[in-house]
Formats: sequence, C-alpha cells, structure tokens
Amino acid sequence: MAAYRPAFDRDSRPWWERVGRREFAVQECDGCGAARFPARAFCPACRTEAWHWREVEPEGVVESWIVNHQPFMPGLAEPYVVVMVRLAAVPGCFVYGNWRGDRPPEPGERVRVAYRRIDEELTLVDWEPAEDDGNLDTHPARRTSSR
Ligand SMILES: [Zn+2]
Repeated sequence: MAAYRPAFDRDSRPWWERVGRREFAVQECDGCGAARFPARAFCPACRTEAWHWREVEPEGVVESWIVNHQPFMPGLAEPYVVVMVRLAAVPGCFVYGNWRGDRPPEPGERVRVAYRRIDEELTLVDWEPAEDDGNLDTHPARRTSSR
C-alpha cells in the first residue's frame, strides 16, 4: 500500500523517530505536568518550554472518522478510512491515522496502534481494533451502545 509522507518539522521529527522505533510517547510539561500532542515547543497551558517524553500505551477510542473517496494523495487507493482517536492516556489529545480494520470503525471503539513501516525514514501510525479482553465493563463501545 502506498502512503502519504507527513512533513517532519523541528517539533514533530523526534516524535516520528520514536514511532520508527515503535515507541509511542507524548510530551509532558516540566512546569505543570500537562501532557500534549502533537509535539510543540512550549506548553499551551503554562507556556513553559521545558518538557520530556512520556511513553504511553498506544491505545485509545475512536472519536470519529472520515472516508476518503478522492485520491488526494497519488498512489493511495481509495476509498480509505482515516480515524481520529482519543488517546486513552491523555484524553485531551487526538491522533489521526489510517484505519486497519476489515470493517468500518464504531464510535467509542477501543483501538490500538498498528505500526506500518514504510522505509528507513518513515513508519506510520495506523489504528486497529483492540483485542477484546473479555471485560464488558471496560469496553466503551458496548457501554455507549446500551444507552
Ligand atoms: Zn505546562
């Protein structure tokens, strides 16, 4: 499968390098402790510039998604689904990625990162349905569907 190539910048390059090593992290502010994604130079909450990486579980819940029917990027077969995932470890942060399920995503569905290595420089973050752990109480999709 062909893939789009995200543009790396000063702030995002270290994040993509970590993804290349299959490490999933968010920035954590040294001033107030707020976690943030995507990477940026200073904390939007307290404007402190000092920060460090914090590794988090590469999982979250599906917030929404789009189905692309247009070949916005050459070489990418359409239609393809891009999901917006609310990170489990940092509920205020969202990560976008290609959907890797064999069916459409469901709202509130638990998902995990599926790393997709493109080449030396680039590994993408796709999302796939999380393994069902058999615990009904911790499955957000089932919880919301019973409302
Ligand atoms: Zn802060």
